[in-house]
Amino acid sequence: MKSKITIGILGIQGDIEENKKVAEDALNHLKLTGTVQLVKYSQDLNEIDGLILPGGESTVVGTLIKIRDGLLTAIKRRIMEDMPVLGTCAGMIMLSRRAYDRIIGDTKQELLSSLDIVVERNAFGRQKDSFEAGLQIPALGQNSAFKGVFIRAPIVSEVGNAVDIIARLDDKIVGVRQRNIIATSFHPELSGDNRIHKEFIRVVKDYKLKKLTVDSNAV
Ligand code: GLN
Repeated sequence: MKSKITIGILGIQGDIEENKKVAEDALNHLKLTGTVQLVKYSQDLNEIDGLILPGGESTVVGTLIKIRDGLLTAIKRRIMEDMPVLGTCAGMIMLSRRAYDRIIGDTKQELLSSLDIVVERNAFGRQKDSFEAGLQIPALGQNSAFKGVFIRAPIVSEVGNAVDIIARLDDKIVGVRQRNIIATSFHPELSGDNRIHKEFIRVVKDYKLKKLTVDSNAV
């Protein structure tokens, strides 16, 4: 590959540093040259090949990226152009087309609406109801066991036709993929396991390779 991979982490609120560390670790494991940098303004998007939306508080992140120099629209546009995205927990909520809460109903928050899913926020309860659970994620290959860390996590209550379900907890959908978009209800950046980030970086690598080929054909 001609140039290095640049992974962006939306650096507004939430577990930004944790994601940065795991993404750097995943790049090293894959022996890829690349950097991981924070995205805070629209122009930062020009430098990245893939974006991670960390867990945190989706209402805060949504509001801030909406009022900040059109960052919400700019991210949405890049995703429409197929840029790979990994959204964890609040990041999954941000990507969804509709979010609601069992008690208050529609949460009327700013969403990217890039992923054809509906999510129920805080579906397992509040902070004190956080838990870890053993998951099976067949997309990870032979060793498909993965520790899911759930903190005020959403569940996916509806999926569109183009969406593959990649993880369930009992009968609940907690991981999905739609083309270059991967989203999890849990926090893979907190499980001490970089395999989901590695999978994401492989998607970014393929996207970058394709883009370089298209660009060089256009010259
Ligand atoms: N419940 C949070 C939200 O709605 C998500 C929690 C998390 O990311 N750990 O944004």
